[in-house]
Amino acid sequence: MVGIVVVSHSHRIAEGVAELAREMGGDEVKLETAGGLEAIGDPGSSGMPEHPIGTDAVLVMQAIERAWSDDGVLVLMDLGSAVLSSELALDLLGDERRARILLCEAPLVEGAVAAAVTAKLGMPLATVAAEARAGLASKVAHLGTGSDAAPTPGDSAEGPADAMVTAVIPVLVAHGLHARPAARLVQVAAAYDASIVLANLTTGTGPADATSLNGVATLGVRSGHELEVRASGPDAADAVAALESLAARGFDEPPSASDDSRSQARGDDGSASAARREPAEARSDRDERSVDATLAGSAASPGIAIGRLRRFHATPLQVPEATVSDPDVELDKLDTALHETVDAISGQRSTVAAQAGEEEARIFDAHVLFLRDHALLDPARAAIRDRRSPAAHAWRDAVETVAEAWDALDDEYLRARAADLRSVGAQVLARILGLAMPAPRIDAPGILVAADLTPAETATLDPETCLGIVTAYGGPTSHAAVLARAMGIPAVVGVGSRVLELTEDIHLVVDGIRGEVHVRPTAEAIIRWGSERAARDAEVIRVRARASEPATTIDGTTVEVAANVGGPGEIADAIAAGADGVGLFRTEFLFMQRSSLPDEREQEEAYRAAAEILAGRPLLVRTLDAGADKPIPALAQPSEVNPFLGVRGIRLGLACPDLLLTQLRALLRVASDHPVRVMFPMVTTIDDLTAARALLARARAETGVDAWIEVGAMVEVPAAALTAAVLAPQADFFSIGTNDLTQYTLAADRGNERVAALNDPLHPAVLRLIATTVEAARSHDRWVGVCGELAGNELATPLLLGLGVRELSMAGP
Ligand code: PEP
Ligand code: MG
Repeated sequence: MVGIVVVSHSHRIAEGVAELAREMGGDEVKLETAGGLEAIGDPGSSGMPEHPIGTDAVLVMQAIERAWSDDGVLVLMDLGSAVLSSELALDLLGDERRARILLCEAPLVEGAVAAAVTAKLGMPLATVAAEARAGLASKVAHLGTGSDAAPTPGDSAEGPADAMVTAVIPVLVAHGLHARPAARLVQVAAAYDASIVLANLTTGTGPADATSLNGVATLGVRSGHELEVRASGPDAADAVAALESLAARGFDEPPSASDDSRSQARGDDGSASAARREPAEARSDRDERSVDATLAGSAASPGIAIGRLRRFHATPLQVPEATVSDPDVELDKLDTALHETVDAISGQRSTVAAQAGEEEARIFDAHVLFLRDHALLDPARAAIRDRRSPAAHAWRDAVETVAEAWDALDDEYLRARAADLRSVGAQVLARILGLAMPAPRIDAPGILVAADLTPAETATLDPETCLGIVTAYGGPTSHAAVLARAMGIPAVVGVGSRVLELTEDIHLVVDGIRGEVHVRPTAEAIIRWGSERAARDAEVIRVRARASEPATTIDGTTVEVAANVGGPGEIADAIAAGADGVGLFRTEFLFMQRSSLPDEREQEEAYRAAAEILAGRPLLVRTLDAGADKPIPALAQPSEVNPFLGVRGIRLGLACPDLLLTQLRALLRVASDHPVRVMFPMVTTIDDLTAARALLARARAETGVDAWIEVGAMVEVPAAALTAAVLAPQADFFSIGTNDLTQYTLAADRGNERVAALNDPLHPAVLRLIATTVEAARSHDRWVGVCGELAGNELATPLLLGLGVRELSMAGP
């Protein structure tokens, strides 16, 4: 057992600290003191000999000899000459012993208490020292580092010791104390004025500070393990009671995936009618990671994918070599980056909490706690303060050290949390370096599982590596889903947060037709899904052979079947799949994932490249539809409480006319020698359309291009559909964006899986608006197309044609 020596100028302080530490660590801890100078004179009135204030190297040396252990001795000192005397004592002890003595900079009182507790557990010297250094953590967590509240009498850390309260808590939560339940534990522990130390009694790991997420999670507590809680301080008893109650509530974990209405366990035939429900006890006992299960979500992109589970991994950022010129500046950089990242994560948390509920959002608490954990912050700040490393290096190294501790755990699931830590750490690092977050990467081909995907993240996916997509949140017409369809990647969205707890490398089958994800399928099941996929592939080949024939009904009406694309790169495939042209060029993708806006020339090149590949087929370009679900980082838009009802689509173009004019000039230049159509998104009133046309006229004047160009209005807002007769004289055509039209008509967010069932484009209310639009257009001799996802839904084809729609634009595949 490591020995401990407390060195102080004051004999009484040294004895008091030792008394407190023994109270926590127990009498068997080898704890000696060297306080004040040699006693002089007679015992005073208290009966104690009088020790003058001061420090003496010989007394320190003798204390070290008394505390001697082959495991080493930790020396804690108060100020000034205490350090010098201790260094001298080391010189007196000689080389051999000196190698096993550690003079530790930890705070005296908290350090001694933490060291005593840790030494008693038989931990090595380095661990005892680390715990002593981290001894201030719970005070910092409670009061914060910047607290300027005046201390009140009795607040001093040197106040009277409170008795240790201990408890043994059995952990009976499905995956043990993984990130989310560990985060709950840390939150509860930090709410009390108590120093709480945990140890895993089952594995003998620990101790860990209960307010350190990394500490708690790396105890490797699995279901069935016993956790020892030792608390001291004014609120110790309440804190222990609160932790016991938390454990009894199952660490506030959401019900298991099999309880979730969106994630039913289904029969082998895949039908909902064959759904089997297990008794609650059976479900809570089993470890879902080793059990086949079927998670139900929304079918977002058709096809079947079979592969291993993959997650995004943060792309390592290059940290340039640098030295510390001013530690304060570097500390400031780190703190600002931490604040901004916490704000960003809190924003995500609010969105998920609003859409999917508190329990689902709790995983983000774990991410915030990573960033507040002294296990990361202390070493990073110390490295900066000591001028060893600038902020970026210090932070990167601290994250890597803790992540490696996670990597070393023998629990596969907990090991996977290292990726979460690295990804949150990379967000901070990118901010310190002032860089945009690089696109995350998938390490090997497989099925990407993520909470949700931004359009920018989806746009970087490579179908060669990303065989399928499964998201916990999001609806089937969310932008990520739209993109997945465009890339032909089978996807199921909104399966619930339990999918995030599955480990990497297990097998999954994604059924993007039925909206199901099969977890750890048996070999026979994989063969069955494989043959279904092969049959589907054969059908696609058969259908594609006729894809280029005109789409003519048996009564002789020809319909234009066009493609929705995000850039010129998708067009060749779309033509091969039979597209008669492009019916929706979503120009947002030229603007995403970059820190500056594309200029007129760059835009012209992109539109020209598209037109050239189309070789005379029509190219319908939608002007920039930024905002809400399509954020453009280079456009600093003020945050809005309700961005879907805010300045997006044509509203933004009219608010920033230069932005729209640049785009219109680029388009007109291409229109002078190619068949280009243009349309404006989110038109709501006739004023929108008139103002947009006025800008087009100005762009004509500025470019001198007078080529005729068809100008249309998107019908995505119920007001536009209902007043289509008013808009028609100003529009050469209408293109109905059923994705937005449905969400606005049924007041059901297209990105929210909880209202996915309500977000039904075949609802009579939506169909009536389509009918109203077509009737108004017909009376003005205008054509109507549909470019929302409904256009590619075979079930809807007869309805849309019957209603008079004559152009259908859909994802190329
Ligand atoms: C729509 O809303 O239906 C549409 C085609 O536009 P987007 O999906 O890009 O919002
Ligand atoms: Mg839209």
